[in-house]
Amino acid sequence: MQRIEHIYINGAFVEPHGSEWFDLHNPATEEVIGQVRLGDARDASDAIAAAKAAFPAFSRTSRQERIAMLRRMQAAMAARENDLFEAIVTEYGAPVSRARWMAAYAHQVIGELAQVLEQYVFQRPAGAAQVTMQPLGVAGLITPWNSNAGFICGKLATALAAGCTAVIKPSEMSALQTRVVMEALHEAGLPPGVFNIVNGRGEVVGAQITSHRDVAKISFTGSSVVGRAILRGSAETFKRVTLELGGKSPTLVLDDADFDSAVPLAVQAGFMNSGQACIAGTRILVPRARLAEFEAAIAREVAATPAGDPRDPATAIGPMVSRKQWERVQGYIRRGKEEGARLLVGGEGRPDGVDRGWLVRPTVFTDVRNDMTIAREEIFGPVLAILPYDTEMEAIAIANDTTYGLHGYVLTGDRERGARVAAQIEAGRVLVNTLVHEPKAPFGGFKQSGIGRENGSYGVDAYLEPKAVLVN
Ligand code: NAD
Repeated sequence: MQRIEHIYINGAFVEPHGSEWFDLHNPATEEVIGQVRLGDARDASDAIAAAKAAFPAFSRTSRQERIAMLRRMQAAMAARENDLFEAIVTEYGAPVSRARWMAAYAHQVIGELAQVLEQYVFQRPAGAAQVTMQPLGVAGLITPWNSNAGFICGKLATALAAGCTAVIKPSEMSALQTRVVMEALHEAGLPPGVFNIVNGRGEVVGAQITSHRDVAKISFTGSSVVGRAILRGSAETFKRVTLELGGKSPTLVLDDADFDSAVPLAVQAGFMNSGQACIAGTRILVPRARLAEFEAAIAREVAATPAGDPRDPATAIGPMVSRKQWERVQGYIRRGKEEGARLLVGGEGRPDGVDRGWLVRPTVFTDVRNDMTIAREEIFGPVLAILPYDTEMEAIAIANDTTYGLHGYVLTGDRERGARVAAQIEAGRVLVNTLVHEPKAPFGGFKQSGIGRENGSYGVDAYLEPKAVLVN
């Protein structure tokens, strides 16, 4: 049993004022593996006060000083990569190959921001004016459980690159990962108060950060419901807000696609991060003339994509993070059947031979209509919907008929055609015949998938206010 008692305020590990203990689970076994003591609104206020006090000096640091700090943070996180990997597998249940990538991403993303800062243009002439990109102040960073350490490191590195100080409210379900990050970043030796980390409930610590007048900016990744609450809560003080919310991303399989390569890509895009990915390609649009061929190919591919023990190297899909999430996913599988979709693979319950853990059978429905619940709502589990179409124009219309707009995938034998179709998809990022991540490209959503962009110089912009000065 691990007990995590401390939060991090003003450069020190402190006991929180809050006294609630929250259970941490291993989702592969359902066992309680630890407890975290949660901070409360007073702890959040203390952290905000520390970040506010640190801001004047930190905002005046030079580009080179901040690059040096980011490089120290990167090295400190890299030194703890194995500990982070262990925490991710144990507490989140990511399969080992995914967890390796996630543990490395946490330090790589800091290095990425150091590179962005080297090139970032803070002074920009505009006619007779000199425009300075000036840091906003204290940033509140709120992260979800599906990539807690990666989001802490990415959001924090971006805020610091811009010259902002930060208060971080990690997912309360990810405290083992947060502890590794907290200890590592402490080793980087940043000035006290520049970053502060408060474990706590969203409606307590998150809400305090959202409403506090000394916080200038919120960057949030998580559900649309909470995103709306943050937007409303920020309105009183006109905070700048970046929201990375959910998605129901389309994978357009064009009629010229080679299924030998397209089907594995579609399955990987759909089951990414055990299905708990905001960018998962969960609506697979397939030409009706090739539907039977696609169904046979995807059934074979899913059979080769097993859900199971995250520590087994053969496992492709790990457990859902919590019982609540498992039940939610089961509910969607039931709903899919009730609404008349045809179950091609998988179904309710655990995979064969598994009697514990929040594991879901990898599931694919076909003959799905775009007005069915499983085609409209984000499931956040390994459940895919195949929607047949007749023409390319109809496929694009179905792809765009969603309240979301985070991501899209196009699979085709013709790159130019793929780029032409990608241009017509209403989403913040579209990948054609690939799953590669480009860290310099902006990331964020159209429509109800969010507001604003993260990553690269676009991400840094969101922590800065342009100030124009004209001197006569
Ligand atoms: P959530 O949105 O409830 O939680 C995300 C973060 O927000 C957590 O740190 C939480 O403590 C905090 N939070 C909760 N209420 C808050 C409030 N009122 N003010 C400020 N912060 C608050 O996400 P969840 O419960 O972990 O997951 C629910 C659903 O959200 C999932 O099923 C999935 O559909 C979606 N989700 C999306 C993403 C994504 O990457 N877009 C990530 C996680 C979850």
